[in-house]
Amino acid sequence: MTEPGTPRNDTITVGSTGTQSSRRGRANLRDYVSTCREFSWDAARSQLAGLPGGGLNIAYEAVDRHAAGPGAHSIALRWLRADGGVVESSYADLAEASSRFANVLRAQGIKRGERIGVLLGRCPELYIAVLGILKAGCVVAPMFSAFGPEPVRQRLDIAGAAALITSEPLYRRKVAPIRDALPALRTVLLTDGGSGGVDLPAAMAAADPDYELTPTTADDPALLHFTSGTTGRPKGALHVHGAVLAHIVTARFALDLQDGDIFWCTADPGWVTGMSYGVIAPLCLGVTLISDESEFDARRWYRILTAHRVSVWYTAPTALRMLMRSGDTLPEGTDLGCLRFIASVGEPLNPEVVVWGERVLGHPVHDNWWQTETGAIMIANFAATQVRPGSMGRPLPGIEAAVVRRGANGRALVRDGTIDFAGVGEIGELALRAGWPSMFRAYWDQPERYQRCFVDGWYLSGDLARRDGDGYYWFVGRADDVIKSAGHLVGPFEVESALMRHPAVAEAGVIGTPDPVAGEVVKAFVLLRSGVRPSEELRSELTAFGRRALGAVAPKQVEFVSSLPHTRSGKVMRRLLKARELGLPEGDVSTLEGAP
Ligand code: ATP
Ligand code: MG
Repeated sequence: MTEPGTPRNDTITVGSTGTQSSRRGRANLRDYVSTCREFSWDAARSQLAGLPGGGLNIAYEAVDRHAAGPGAHSIALRWLRADGGVVESSYADLAEASSRFANVLRAQGIKRGERIGVLLGRCPELYIAVLGILKAGCVVAPMFSAFGPEPVRQRLDIAGAAALITSEPLYRRKVAPIRDALPALRTVLLTDGGSGGVDLPAAMAAADPDYELTPTTADDPALLHFTSGTTGRPKGALHVHGAVLAHIVTARFALDLQDGDIFWCTADPGWVTGMSYGVIAPLCLGVTLISDESEFDARRWYRILTAHRVSVWYTAPTALRMLMRSGDTLPEGTDLGCLRFIASVGEPLNPEVVVWGERVLGHPVHDNWWQTETGAIMIANFAATQVRPGSMGRPLPGIEAAVVRRGANGRALVRDGTIDFAGVGEIGELALRAGWPSMFRAYWDQPERYQRCFVDGWYLSGDLARRDGDGYYWFVGRADDVIKSAGHLVGPFEVESALMRHPAVAEAGVIGTPDPVAGEVVKAFVLLRSGVRPSEELRSELTAFGRRALGAVAPKQVEFVSSLPHTRSGKVMRRLLKARELGLPEGDVSTLEGAP
C-alpha cells in the first residue's frame, strides 16, 4: 500500500509441510487454469436434479432429491444443543418436515412470492422452515436472532413480510412490542406455541407430510438477504432459485466439499454465509452439516471439531483471532485429525492468522471473498494450490473478476462507454462480470441503487483491491474505509495486519482521523492479548514496530482498548470507531458514509 503494486505478502507462502501437495491429488479443483478454461455454467447445470415436472427449486435440490434416493437416511443435520445434547435429522426427516411446513403456510393463506421472516436461533425448526418456505414458492427473509426489536422491525418492514416464524420468547421480547408497526404481517408461527401466534408444533402434526412442490423456475425469487450494515443501513438483496447452481459449484471448488464430509459453517443462517453455506450448499451436496446452538467459546469449538470429526470448517477471521488469543496450546484431548480444510470469509484475514492456522491447527486458513450481493463465493484460495497469506485468492471458475480504475468522484471510470481497467498492482474497485447464477437480482424496493451497481456489464463491489501478476486478488479496503494520508492511500487492513504481527496484539481496528496537514492520520485501536498490560512503553514499541513495517503509513496514534466494536456478523466496525473518535453520536454513524 505504501507503494501500490508491490504486494507485501506475495512472497510468503504456507503449506511447506507438504499438507498442500499431498491433498492436491484428492482436491475437487486440481488444475485451476484448465478448469477455468473448460468451465461453463451451462454445462454445470447437469449437476442439478431439477423438479420432476420441470423447473428448479432450492429445497428440492437440498433435501427431496436425496430423500428419494440412497441418501435418504444419511444424516443431513447434526444439531448440537447448548446443554450438550445432540439431535440428528436425516435427509428424509428434513424432506418430510419441510413439506409439512409448506402445507402449514398454505393452510394459513400464505401465497407464492410472499416474504416470510425467519427469526430463530440455530435449531432444527430454522432449517425446516427455510426449506418449507422455499417449497411453497415463498421468499425466505432470514434475520439474526440476536437483533433487538428495531432491527427486526426495520427488516420485516423493508421485506413487507406476510408471515414470521419465531419462538415464543423471541416473539415476546422482539416482535410483540413492534407488531402494530407492521401492518403487512398477517401470520406469526411460534415454534413452541404460546399466545400471539399459530402453535406450530400442533399445526405441523396436523399437516399432510406430502407436498407437491410449487413449480418454481430458476428466475423465481427465493431469498431476501440483508447486508451486514457495516457501511450504513442494511440493504435487502434478492436472490433467485437459480443461485443454487453457484452454491453447489463454489462449495465443491472453494470449500472442497466431498462425499462423506462433516461440514461446520460457523456463520449464523441469519446471514448470507450461514444460509448459502450453512444450509443450502452442504445439503445439496448430501454431506452432514453441524449446527451449534451456542455462541463462540474456544474450548467448546475445539471440542466440537474433535468430537464430531469435522472435516471441512468454514469460519470467520474474528473467530480465528479469538482462538489465537486463547493461545497456541490446544485444550487437552483436542484431536483435529479428521480436519482436512479450513476456510474463512467476511472480512480481511490477516496473514498472521493463516500462518497460525498452519502451525497450531495443522492447516493454513484459506481466505475467500464474496458479499451478500454475490450470493456465493467469488474469489478463493483453493485446496490444491498454495495459500498466499493476505490474499483473497483467485476467481472461481465461471467468475470473471477485474480491478477497475476510479475517478475523482469515487465511481468507476468509463471512457467511451467502456470501463477502464487498472493495471497489475494498481488499486481500484473490485468488479465482477455480471451474469453468474447467484448474482442478486434487486435491492428490494431500491431499483436505482441496484442500477448504480452496474457499469458496462460489470458489477461494482464497492471494495478496493489490487491484482498481482499471477492473478491473485489482494483486499485493500472498503471504498468508504480507505484513509488518505499525506498523499498515500492507506487500507486499514494492511495496517491492522502489520500490528497483529506483534506478539502483544490480539486484534486491531484502524481509521483515519482528521489532520490539518496530512488530511488524515492513521490511528490504531489495539486490543492486547490476554495477560498483556497496556503501558506507555508498549505504545511506543508498537508505534516503532508499525513504522518499521509500514513506513510512512504507520499509525501515528495508538490507543489501547478493552474491546473492539463488531457488527452482529462479527466484522470490525471501523465506522463506529470513527464516530467515537469524532465525538459523533453512534446512532449517526451512517452520516459517515462516503466521508473521506
Ligand atoms: P453493508 O453492505 O451493509 O455495508 P457488508 O458489506 O459488511 O455490509 P456483507 O455483504 O455481509 O455486508 O459483507 C461483504 C463485505 O465483507 C465485502 O464487500 C468485503 O468488504 C467484506 N469481506 C468479505 N470477505 C472478505 C475477505 N475475504 N477479505 C476482505 N473483506 C471481505
Ligand atoms: Mg456491502
